[in-house]
This record gives sequence, structure tokens and C-alpha cells, in this order.
Amino acid sequence: MVSSRIWALCNNKGGVTKTTTTVNLGYGLARAGRRVLIVDTDAQSNSTYSLLGHLEQEPTLFDVLINGVKMADTIVPTRQEGLFLAPSSINLSAADLLMASAPGRERKLARALAPVKDNYDYILIDTPPNLGVLTVNAFISCTDVIIPIALTTYALIGISILESTMQELRDNLDVSLPIFGVIANLDDHTRLSAEVLNAVREHFGSLVFDTVIPRNIKVEEAHNQIACLFDYAPNSTGAQAYTKLVREVLSRAEGE
Ligand code: ADP
Ligand code: MG
Repeated sequence: MVSSRIWALCNNKGGVTKTTTTVNLGYGLARAGRRVLIVDTDAQSNSTYSLLGHLEQEPTLFDVLINGVKMADTIVPTRQEGLFLAPSSINLSAADLLMASAPGRERKLARALAPVKDNYDYILIDTPPNLGVLTVNAFISCTDVIIPIALTTYALIGISILESTMQELRDNLDVSLPIFGVIANLDDHTRLSAEVLNAVREHFGSLVFDTVIPRNIKVEEAHNQIACLFDYAPNSTGAQAYTKLVREVLSRAEGE
């Protein structure tokens, strides 16, 4: 039995495929027979919507972080066997403010996850597009960080802020915060995409997964239609790339 891995999918920018990658990795790992929990810490609730098809679920992560509800009481199954969700809600946008003066505010998520984490092989934490208290909670809770990167203009601008925030947490909060991997996405097969990919590989070296996810409309359609990409368009370039990525992720994590 592998000890459970908790991955925070972080990048302080929006639109860099954090949510898409969280959801598709979640589906892929669950379909490979692993027990997976997705924790949605983004008030935009995109992964919650994409997995449940609605945002009416109660209680949510907000109740866990602010009202002391147990994590186990928020976790719901999804339509995919083996894939579970701790849902977000729009009121999580007030969490930064509400948690600002709470003692131990950086460790609330870690403490909430502790009693349930051994029920899962993988816990994937989807994060908001900023480095506020929720992202810091994701960092403190995780065993490793996964950085999704979009191969569009200026992908590396802002990465230094992410990296220095991670270093500050390592220095001050007694966490090791290793990077498990960097996932390049939205490859347009243009010269620009190739140049950005080169720069990302130069910066992160072998942390960058060999599999690069192409921009593929089926990925977006599956997401918008609350469908699993691997069922919705199994032969699409997007589904095939995510299938390869899941294999690569499993072999890096479990040495297969
Ligand atoms: P983030 O969570 O970082 O803000 P998203 O995962 O929501 O980013 O992705 C941003 C947008 O890009 C979404 O509309 C999503 O459907 C789309 N998208 C993500 N990956 C792909 C892909 N491989 N091909 C096409 N569209 C994609
Ligand atoms: Mg998102």
C-alpha cells in the first residue's frame, strides 16, 4: 500500500488549467483503480460544478474552514466510481477575510483532512488563482505541489512569486513542499508554444512531465457538459494526452 499523496495544484494565475487538470487527473486516477478525493478550495467552484453539475451541495468546504463542520460530512461521491469531492461554494470568497485573524489559520485545511486522508490513495487540491490564505492552506496540507502551466505568452512571469511564496512557507512553517511535477498544457503547436515549453523545461528541468497536453476543444466541451473526458471523447487528442499523463504520474508516484 502506497501512503496517500496529497497534491496541491497551484499556480497563482487564472486560466492556466488548474481545474481542468485536477478534474482529469482525478478521473484518470480513479479509473486506474485508485481512490481519489478532489478538494475544491476555489470560491469559483469550477471543479465542484464540473463534477456535480450544480452548486447547491451543502455543507461545503466553507463550513469546514469557518463553521467547524467535519470534512467527512462534506465529502460526496461523484458519478465516477472511486472519485469523491469535498465541494466549494461561492461564499468561500469571504474566507480570506473571515480567517484573517483566526489562530492557526494556515493549518485549518490540514487539520480537517487529517481524519479522512487515509481513506484515499490520492487527494488533489484545486486552488484559487492567488496566493491568499486558501492557497497557503493547500500548501500546508499537501505532500507535494503540482504546477500546471499554460503554454501561452509569458507562462513564466509570476512563477517567481509562486516560488518565493513556497520558499517563505518552507522557511517559516516547517513544511518541505516539494514539487512533484510541472504539467504543460494548452499546446497550440505554434512556435510560441514550443518556445514557452523550452523555457519551462529550462527552468524546471526533469520536473516537467514528458506528456504535454494539447489545446483541444473536446477538453473544454467535456468540462462544460459535466462529462468525463475519457467517456465523452475517448479518441480525442486531449483524452489521449491525459491518459498518457496519468500513466506518467502513476509511474512517478508509484514507480510502476
Ligand atoms: P484555471 O483553473 O487555472 O483557472 P481552467 O482549468 O478553468 O483554468 O482552464 C481555463 C480554460 O481553458 C477553461 O475554459 C478550460 O475548459 C480550458 N481548457 C483547459 N485545458 C484545455 C485544453 N487542453 N484544451 C482546450 N481548452 C482547455
Ligand atoms: Mg480553476
